[in-house]
Amino acid sequence: MKNPSSIILKGLPVSKGIAIGISHVMEHGNNVIKEEYIDKKSISKETKRLETTFKKTLSELNIIRNKISPSIKKNVGLFLDTHILLVSDKTFLDNIRFRVKESLCSSEWAIQSEYLSIRDSFENIEDPYIKQRIDDVNHVVKILLKNLIMKKAKMNIVSKNFNNVILVTDDLSPADVIIAYESKGLGLISEYGGRSSHSSILTRSLELPSIVGVKNGLSIIKHGDYLILDGNEGLIFINPEKDLIKYYESLKKSSLKKKKLLSSVLTKKNISLDKEKLEIMANLELPQELKIIKEKIIDGIGLFRTEYLYTDRTDFPTENEQFIAYKQIVKKMKNNPVIFRTLDIGADKEIPDNIKTGSIARNPALGLRGIRYSLSDQSVFINQIKAILRAGLYGTIKIMLPMITNFTEIKDAKNLINIAKARLRDEKKKFNNNIKIGIMVEVPSCAVLANRFAKHVDFFSIGTNDLVQYTLAIDRVDEEVNYLYDPINSAVLNLIKIVIDAGAKNKIPVSLCGEMAGDSNYTKLLLGLGLKSFSMHPSAIPEIKNIMINSDVSKLKKLSKEIINCDCVIKKNKLLDKINSI
Ligand code: PEP
Ligand code: MG
Repeated sequence: MKNPSSIILKGLPVSKGIAIGISHVMEHGNNVIKEEYIDKKSISKETKRLETTFKKTLSELNIIRNKISPSIKKNVGLFLDTHILLVSDKTFLDNIRFRVKESLCSSEWAIQSEYLSIRDSFENIEDPYIKQRIDDVNHVVKILLKNLIMKKAKMNIVSKNFNNVILVTDDLSPADVIIAYESKGLGLISEYGGRSSHSSILTRSLELPSIVGVKNGLSIIKHGDYLILDGNEGLIFINPEKDLIKYYESLKKSSLKKKKLLSSVLTKKNISLDKEKLEIMANLELPQELKIIKEKIIDGIGLFRTEYLYTDRTDFPTENEQFIAYKQIVKKMKNNPVIFRTLDIGADKEIPDNIKTGSIARNPALGLRGIRYSLSDQSVFINQIKAILRAGLYGTIKIMLPMITNFTEIKDAKNLINIAKARLRDEKKKFNNNIKIGIMVEVPSCAVLANRFAKHVDFFSIGTNDLVQYTLAIDRVDEEVNYLYDPINSAVLNLIKIVIDAGAKNKIPVSLCGEMAGDSNYTKLLLGLGLKSFSMHPSAIPEIKNIMINSDVSKLKKLSKEIINCDCVIKKNKLLDKINSI
């Protein structure tokens, strides 16, 4: 298409679809707070919001302060003390409160304008050390603003600015994705990020067209620019010509039509052409997705990421709070199984600011995440297990442990599960005593020894997002190395095959719940490798099921083997095309 005047940017397409609309530019590192005012009626509500934010921020800072290990206490502690002093400074809060009451500023704008005025007064200070203290004020202001904005997200009072716009940001957090979804945003663009980051997975789950890794996106796209976001090709057109808009509008229409047509496969039996019985399950990570999932057309929830209950807050959810949430999901799924993955916070999964995990480590993906965190904070794990076991009374559930790297972790986790059961008995709470325990196979050490791990657990679920990351030593959220993130690298495929075969040999079910399961490029290859159970983000189900029921699995085996054994990337891609055309 000829389009001489519009600017085109390229990024990594992470969620398919086309969005056409105005941009909303938002930078995290340097929150752009707009001049916003409230009406008189809202003063007391707004003041309360402000005060709650101060309280929350103060408690967060205190918790972090108390968790600092003695070895680094001196340096970091001092700077945190300064922040705590500022947040508890009555005059600072009074001045901001005054701006809300007298000038009718929104809390955000009141904080920002107070900050600007303090910054001005620092300008005249000569002592370079004191002058530098404005950085502390800036830091505190950022935390306050973040808490205000997060609170909005939680309360579902989402900025109306996200409505009908394409959000352009430096780093897309899961909270941004949820806000964009809740406020009916059109699509998302981010400078940073990878295909299998948690935020990207969410964009696919919620069917928000998205592109990440757009270099210099924020300096090129201006707030209010008219954009076309092509989430299929990873292209962004800035202020395009009418012709191009027309073209994309018709493309959007026809893909909607195709989607409707595809949905007719959902009610069909999931059997391949050569009568292999296949299984298709959904990955779930937000209660919002329950609306999308139709329990009758899937074989269960193959991965329920429980992290959402733990994020965007400063404390841990109680056993009861979790029980209520889990029960709702189990009941909705009737007798289809729900696989609860225990807490997998850390690395790219947002965690409460006050919880010390691998995310503050130098290599968060290799740090205290997944089962490692649960085993180090046993009361949190036991509480979660108690809630899951209780929810087990309302349907069929299974427990899945993330990030398993050795046999001891399984033994320790099982011991804690027994402790959770004993506590429930003591407390006279009813629960399901007969629950299968499986593991995510997402670390190479576990995949290599799958045949031995199979003797210790009831099922496997292959987590290719991490398996690729750890096998190929590629940070899954880093766009700089994204070109190396290759799910069909022979080392990865070999590991997948080892796990599938180990499951068959030991007669335990094997599913695959990484993003690979929902990528139509790999469906036939995985079928050829012997995979029968796929768990994916709900929006991918129609397309994948359509491929499954139109496949003759017996004809895919030979080519799959050839793909594993192929050393040439070009040839391998040709073989992939070939298998997909069978
Ligand atoms: C995986 O690693 O493939 C997986 C499904 O888990 P997550 O993406 O939540 O780490
Ligand atoms: Mg994982």
